[in-house]
Amino acid sequence: MNSKKDKKIFDIAIIGAGPVGIAFACSFSKTSMKIAIIEKQPKKNLANPQIDGREIALTNRSANILKELKVWKSIPSMLITTIKEARVLNGNSKYFLDFTHQQMQKECLGYLIPNNLIRKYLYKRLKTLSNVTLMDEVNCISINNSNNEYSSIQLSSGEKIKASLVVASDSRFSESRTLMGISAFIHDFNKNMIVCRMEHEKPHNNIAYEFFRYTQTQASLPYIKKQSSIVTTVSKNTSLALMKMNDKEFNKEMQNNFNNFFGKMKLIGKRYCYPMITTYSKRFVAHRFALIGDAAVGMHPVTAHGFNLGLKGLEIITKEIKSAIKLEIDFGLPLVLRRYQSKLHRVAIPIYLSTNGIVSLYTNTTVPAIIARQLVLRAVNVIKPIKQTFLQVLR
Ligand SMILES: Cc1cc2nc3c(=O)[nH]c(=O)nc-3n(C[C@H](O)[C@H](O)[C@H](O)COP(=O)(O)OP(=O)(O)OC[C@H]3O[C@@H](n4cnc5c(N)ncnc54)[C@H](O)[C@@H]3O)c2cc1C
Repeated sequence: MNSKKDKKIFDIAIIGAGPVGIAFACSFSKTSMKIAIIEKQPKKNLANPQIDGREIALTNRSANILKELKVWKSIPSMLITTIKEARVLNGNSKYFLDFTHQQMQKECLGYLIPNNLIRKYLYKRLKTLSNVTLMDEVNCISINNSNNEYSSIQLSSGEKIKASLVVASDSRFSESRTLMGISAFIHDFNKNMIVCRMEHEKPHNNIAYEFFRYTQTQASLPYIKKQSSIVTTVSKNTSLALMKMNDKEFNKEMQNNFNNFFGKMKLIGKRYCYPMITTYSKRFVAHRFALIGDAAVGMHPVTAHGFNLGLKGLEIITKEIKSAIKLEIDFGLPLVLRRYQSKLHRVAIPIYLSTNGIVSLYTNTTVPAIIARQLVLRAVNVIKPIKQTFLQVLR
């Protein structure tokens, strides 16, 4: 496809300006690639994203990707916390599985940053790029990839655009994936996750905790001062009750759920409720089409891998596209895209299955499951190769 000057013809058209879609667009900052990014929300929402309760635990690798994209340096450092250690506890046992930054020989295991800040500063960076056209307040109505040279997208505005490659990053419930006839494995845990920020009496010492209680999972991620992101995974009925409580009742409930671990606890801001549904696309690519981010793999948030995996995926696909361009190979062809698909599968399948397995095991209240989970914690802690495998994910 030629005509670099035609306003409706692009090298890559990205559907969804979420954190992964924007980061992907930013990875072509120093190139002559013409990028379109299509988003259903208005620009003003992208410039000032609402707090959504998600505080994102980022691995060192993800932080490096955001550094390479020139996004990290603009996020105020006082709004970023380091996570030095992570401890996993089972039931009422005091025994814990621990991951420390020393085991990884790094300064920290990772960082904690609110999702709205990640989105805000990614968008700020996007706005500086002259090769990216953002089309806001539009939906994608159809995608046609039957032409050999390009895919075309029909937009709700009536416009039609063409691109050598269409990349969808429009969430785990991706409409583009459905439009392309790609189905996904969907696992509904029939639970909800309530996330909120809380202030507490005792310090967190930059340690993240995951308490697998018998009927619910209670986690905390250390944030600035004596604040933590509190994550509660419960049955749908319990979540409704927790959302309905007034602040005072909720504070008390959390204090009890943490067995007074943090002393007095106080809610800051609102509570947010998310359904626990994970998705894994049966294919990540088609002719002149690829899925990235949650649209490819929608992880359970309990192991905090979603965005990290999204960044890993975009690192893989960007490398494949750039090396195809160097070799003068058409990057929209399945032969290039399948390399991305197989590399991402290799990374994503073990993380996706082990996370779903952990969640199922640790929310199962049968006696064998209770025994098994205690054994798993000890095995991972004691057997070095298993622990190294888990730590590898954090690198
Ligand atoms: C409670 C919670 C906690 C989490 N914690 C962590 C964590 O600690 N660490 C971690 O790595 N990950 C975490 N995650 C996962 C992380 O938030 C996601 O992986 C990440 O947001 C995925 O980004 P995305 O850009 O792929 O999709 P999304 O963030 O879902 O963005 C999709 C974008 O596409 C737009 N869109 C949707 N449909 C269309 C359409 N038809 N046309 C145009 N635009 C469209 C949407 O408006 C949105 O802007 C957590 C998730 C949850 C729910």
